[in-house]
Amino acid sequence: MPRFLSALLLLCLTANAHADSYITRLLNKPVPGGVAVLDLGSGNAAPKAFFQGKPVMVVKEQTQWRAIVGLPLSLKPGPAQVTSDAGNVNFTVGNKKYPEQHITLKNNRMVNPNPDDLKRIDSELAIQTTAYRTFTPGTPSNLLLDKPVDGPLSSRFGVRRFFNGEERNPHAGLDFAVPSGTPIKTPASGKVILMGNFFFNGNTVFVDHGQGFISMFCHLSRIDVKLGQIVPRGTVVGRVGQSGRATGPHMHWNISLNDARVDPAIFINAFQP
Ligand code: ZN
Repeated sequence: MPRFLSALLLLCLTANAHADSYITRLLNKPVPGGVAVLDLGSGNAAPKAFFQGKPVMVVKEQTQWRAIVGLPLSLKPGPAQVTSDAGNVNFTVGNKKYPEQHITLKNNRMVNPNPDDLKRIDSELAIQTTAYRTFTPGTPSNLLLDKPVDGPLSSRFGVRRFFNGEERNPHAGLDFAVPSGTPIKTPASGKVILMGNFFFNGNTVFVDHGQGFISMFCHLSRIDVKLGQIVPRGTVVGRVGQSGRATGPHMHWNISLNDARVDPAIFINAFQP
């Protein structure tokens, strides 16, 4: 067989092996703000795996263990590694260019908070970071998520944001344009691990889906759950509103994996490369 033909055949076989894995095909988007799906072999016990020192989700797909790794937006493209007792796995983080968005806010305090606000923001950040670092055992009810509200996407994940001309943190979630009062349903089963009224996020609910896979819903007009409540898939956790830093009613949804905020669009099959 000519060499180029055997190379082509090998390429096809590799592509097929890849296509066979449902989870890999749907979730593997190894870019900053994306997800890396890595093979951890087919040992009897679930391997433990870590990225940047934090535990990562490991699930079994047919015979193979797979690490589902959240890649923070701040990650530099290039070589990266997941450490595991099943053997370390090297992978490559690709590039992704995120667009810019310029937003005008009438309330300048939401752009340049006063010293008291800054104290509040810092303490709220610490509380939310602790929630994001929750790592409970158990496989999530579903990795492909339901849309928490039925409506069009408005602002996408990762957009570089300028408020009144000043650059602030990039958009760490996905927005849906839906009217105030629209019920928000948990996209997978979980437990309410944090709720509160926060400076930027307004009325907020955190749902832990298991193994560091966490949803956050914010700017709610009303919260319909209690702290510690177990919420089966589809439970209404609250209603859409515009509390916190919002220019109008919408639903903002964050997805976190191993304490990295990643693009929720990946999990509802709406990712744009
Ligand atoms: Zn948003």
